[in-house]
Amino acid sequence: MSAFTTETVLDVQHYTDRLFRFRTTRAPAFRFRSGEFVMIGLEVAGKPLVRAYSVASPSWDEELEFYSIKVPDGPLTSRLCDIQTGDTVLVGRKPVGTLVLDALLPGKRLYMLSTGTGFAPFASLIRDPETYERFEQVIVTHTCREAAELRYGIELVAGLAEDPLVGEHVAAGRLIHDTATTRDAWPRTGRITTRVDSGSFFADHDLPPFDPATDRGMICGSMEMLASCKALFESRGFIEGSVSQPGQYVYEKAFVG
Ligand SMILES: Cc1cc2nc3c(=O)[nH]c(=O)nc-3n(C[C@H](O)[C@H](O)[C@H](O)COP(=O)(O)OP(=O)(O)OC[C@H]3O[C@@H](n4cnc5c(N)ncnc54)[C@H](O)[C@@H]3O)c2cc1C
Repeated sequence: MSAFTTETVLDVQHYTDRLFRFRTTRAPAFRFRSGEFVMIGLEVAGKPLVRAYSVASPSWDEELEFYSIKVPDGPLTSRLCDIQTGDTVLVGRKPVGTLVLDALLPGKRLYMLSTGTGFAPFASLIRDPETYERFEQVIVTHTCREAAELRYGIELVAGLAEDPLVGEHVAAGRLIHDTATTRDAWPRTGRITTRVDSGSFFADHDLPPFDPATDRGMICGSMEMLASCKALFESRGFIEGSVSQPGQYVYEKAFVG
């Protein structure tokens, strides 16, 4: 049996010359936990050309969604950026990953910190009702250089109040979507680490400072972002978790750079 299923592209949306999203069919046997990643790609010269991708759709969804970078000379994405409805993509059969609810101890608030395409696993988790069953408040932060790079997340969250599964939680204000830029003008600017350290992040949303007794964290971004955000949590006494030994925070790289 091949390590991949062949799925049909159902919809493609481009946000900037560097970012796009697409939806595909989902093999009935494909099971994953919201927040996990899987190898996906294209058949090139008769061979699979695949890369790791977070599944951006929640585990209950009958379709799969992916949120992708376009690297101009990237082996996969220089081709993947041209896919259209009706084309096929390869999707691995074995999803894995650390950004899953089972890797965290029970808590009151879930903080999900992301930059760039690191928002993708959280696009899955904020659409999963289990996230709201486990946590009273769900806070997802998305920091990008340019304002246009925030659009996928903004449009997704705007539609959630109407969502049949999580809409009532979102309408009740239990989801906070914090958007910020580091280059363009925007209502909130600066790195999440700077905003947490200065306290402005907490003041913006009327939240108490991070507390390992009540708060849990997930981090997804570049290697540099991971290092600085891990330090944010660890300096406040948070302990890293895993499915075999749940803890107070988990992290995953959004790409190998
Ligand atoms: C666990 C994991 C999950 C991932 N999930 C996603 C995802 O959901 N969406 C996604 O677009 N990519 C994701 N990636 C990155 C992805 O695997 C590929 O690197 C990306 O699709 C580019 O593939 P490529 O063959 O075109 O270029 P590659 O040869 O893979 O990458 C070329 C260079 O482009 C840069 N780069 C690659 N990916 C990104 C990115 N996402 N953001 C900024 N710079 C990047 C890096 O500097 C890299 O060295 C993930 C990677 C890992 C390890």
